[in-house]
Amino acid sequence: MPAFEPVLLARVNKPNSAALEGYRADGGYETLKKALGMSPAEVTDLVKNSGLRGRGGAGFPTGLKWTFLPKDHPGPVYLCINADESEPGTFNNRILMEYDPHQLIEGIAIACYAIKSNRAYLYLRYEYGKSYRVLEKAIQECYAAGILGDNVLGQGFQLDIVLHRGAGAYICGEETGLIESLEGKRAWPRIKPPFPAIEGLFRKPTIVNNVETLCCVTHIVNRGIEWFKSIGIPPESGNPRDAGSYGPKLYTVAGHVNNPGCFELPMGVTARELIDVHAGGVWKGRKAKAVVPGGISMGFFSADELDTPLDFAGPGKRGCLGLGTAAVVVVDDQTSMVDVLYNCCRFFSHESCGQCTPCREGTAWMTKILERIRAGHGRLEDLDLLMEVASSMGIIPGTTICGLSDGAAWPVKNALTKFRPEFEEYIKSGRKSVDPVHYAH
Ligand code: NAD
Ligand code: SF4
Repeated sequence: MPAFEPVLLARVNKPNSAALEGYRADGGYETLKKALGMSPAEVTDLVKNSGLRGRGGAGFPTGLKWTFLPKDHPGPVYLCINADESEPGTFNNRILMEYDPHQLIEGIAIACYAIKSNRAYLYLRYEYGKSYRVLEKAIQECYAAGILGDNVLGQGFQLDIVLHRGAGAYICGEETGLIESLEGKRAWPRIKPPFPAIEGLFRKPTIVNNVETLCCVTHIVNRGIEWFKSIGIPPESGNPRDAGSYGPKLYTVAGHVNNPGCFELPMGVTARELIDVHAGGVWKGRKAKAVVPGGISMGFFSADELDTPLDFAGPGKRGCLGLGTAAVVVVDDQTSMVDVLYNCCRFFSHESCGQCTPCREGTAWMTKILERIRAGHGRLEDLDLLMEVASSMGIIPGTTICGLSDGAAWPVKNALTKFRPEFEEYIKSGRKSVDPVHYAH
């Protein structure tokens, strides 16, 4: 099979790849010019018909989301760029922002034109200092060159981009938490509906899109629907719930591999290919015991599930929550799943905003039970208790405001279903974990 030619990462290894001059020399902002020659509805239709699905984790159809904006709204309408990338193991947006910020700015400008927005807020993860500096410079370059401001490329379209540094919490990446944070408040997610497309930032219609999604928009407008749909995989026949997984995708691979990194591949690559071919295999000659397919909130593959395609349908068929952020984290066969799960639970307990009882209490109790197990005081019935707590935490019955609770429960359900004998053996042996836990029995 011929090697896949990168599109989103095509420029990242060029010297001074973040500079406007180089971007323009590579044809940059010509696609924006092309889009400004079309009507906003035509651009929206193009994106809708391309089948582009959001790359932030949920895979919601991007063009369809844009059409949810009220048709007769007097405005303003806002675009929020969700660059609060904080799902553990995920760093694809950081690569795009640090090494090719103009690709993103061009996508933002095209999206704003399509949704008739004159103001975009780029909400950037606080910890991404380099991204902030690179984006700040790139935005300034655009104002000086007439790419942003009152008369974009001399075509009469007005656009401002506001770069906003996040507040350093995972929940700021939940779209309504992000909106609250932008408004200067604590990032407490709002109940949906209304979705932001109807009532978002400053209670105005707002589209929230991820960085990688907006970078794809530029290439769809430039190269067309056929090109985009020639990459990836179509919907499964006879499955009306599968909308297909088209286009190039950035996968990040981290954890126990020889060559961790960010790899651009067609949607549908298998976890095994990613690990063995692109990430140099599992380190130290070991084998993979478990693999996170798309950020820890998606759950785990066991070793015999690695031939699963990583598209919007694949991980879900293996009992995981979905493709998520396509952040693959490899756990080798010398690592305790009890410790891995404890780390996941501790993270979510720390990051829960505390508004909803099942999430606030559930994440804390799961962490405490795992602390007890790791301190050598576990009981076999603790495993059923963990499963019971996790099963009470989903957003689907409507008991929580946002998806964090589901995302916290899924690794627990998966680990106890797929690796239960290891948990039982750990408890029966009275083993204690090496690193200290603050468990007072
Ligand atoms: P969601 O499915 O609730 O919504 C997805 C998007 O579609 C949202 O923008 C939402 O407003 C829109 N939408 C859905 N239904 C709509 C409707 N009827 N009308 C108008 N708009 C509608 O998912 P979510 O809670 O936004 O995101 C969850 C995902 O976030 C998880 O799958 C997880 O992978 C991901 N996540 C990513 C990161 C990261 O660092 N990138 C961090 C945490 C979580
Ligand atoms: Fe906060 Fe958790 Fe409720 Fe989300 S589910 S709003 S993180 S308490």
